Amino acid sequence: MSGTGFYWHERCFWHDQGAIGVFSAPGEFLQPQAASESPESKRRLKNILEVSGLIDELYVVKPPAATLEDLLRFHTPRYLEELQAGDAARGGNGGDCAPYMPGSWAAATHSAGLAIAAVDAVARGEVRNAYALCRPPGHHAEADQGRGFCLLGNIPVAVMRAQALGQASRVAILDWDVHHGNGQQAAFYRDPNTFTISIHQAANYPLESGAFEEQGEGAGTGTNLNLPLPPGCGLGAYAYAMERLVLPALEAFQPDLIIVACGYDACAKDPLGKMLLNSQAFATMTAQVKAVAERCCAGKLVIVHEGGYSEGYVPLCGHAVVQTLASSTTAVFDPQNDEIAAWGYQALQPHQQALIDTWQRQWEQTTR
Ligand SMILES: [Zn+2]
Repeated sequence: MSGTGFYWHERCFWHDQGAIGVFSAPGEFLQPQAASESPESKRRLKNILEVSGLIDELYVVKPPAATLEDLLRFHTPRYLEELQAGDAARGGNGGDCAPYMPGSWAAATHSAGLAIAAVDAVARGEVRNAYALCRPPGHHAEADQGRGFCLLGNIPVAVMRAQALGQASRVAILDWDVHHGNGQQAAFYRDPNTFTISIHQAANYPLESGAFEEQGEGAGTGTNLNLPLPPGCGLGAYAYAMERLVLPALEAFQPDLIIVACGYDACAKDPLGKMLLNSQAFATMTAQVKAVAERCCAGKLVIVHEGGYSEGYVPLCGHAVVQTLASSTTAVFDPQNDEIAAWGYQALQPHQQALIDTWQRQWEQTTR
């Protein structure tokens, strides 16, 4: 058992949201344009892996779409029927800012299928770790509706399947997309065996969730950790949050499988996020989580692609993540990396440190 799996399918890039006003429905003064969640950021990541040759070092798989049985562990029959009916008609909206067109059902079930196959292979020890290039993304999708460009909950579906089949019991999900991982939080809020962590920009999207005080319910109390960082956090703040709180909490949970909801919209070039990371920061976070996985669970780590809207910069960040995951020496030069690192206010700022220190103390009380 060795090697890194890479799960992708061209059909995922064919998901089409129709012409919208970039972030929302078109209106009188909103010229129709492609949605900010576009196939290019993902397709260009696949392409740069081809051009660098890194993909030839990976175990490449094009798995089948998710089955209804798998989707129904998380989603309601009502929602799945609505999506299929809309897909067979002229498209629609999955709920809250989740537009789709005919063909999107096939793409979305294939996207969930990538996460399922990656988790299955890692949990069963067929590959050591894996990257799933999912599209549409999944971390905002809820049981009964799509949200934020997400139609199906790729990670909840894959994790619930692995747990139902007895492939994994204690699963930790770390979401470093710049937006709150509300889908995973809702899916596992009362589940003591699934630890959901989200480090995100405070109240960016969704507005109503992602506060530090949301820590789980009932038996699940203490297995949901939110770090809603202020806008403008850069290399110093993320490093401090990871080292002081995220990584110790992850390790203390002693998972037997770790999933990363890997959005790249905390990068400095993202049009939706207001954070300042470079490709090296994503590689460092990957190495840190990989080290925890090596200590806790024989390296079992699955990285699932979520958001990230800079078509120019996501491929460079993604290549750095995949290279780190695969322990490869096949690198590509990132001409933005050092420039971003030299930007002002990249160091840990006093207000950022004060917040993280407070959360660390409070989290110790919650989990004592
Ligand atoms: Zn996002």
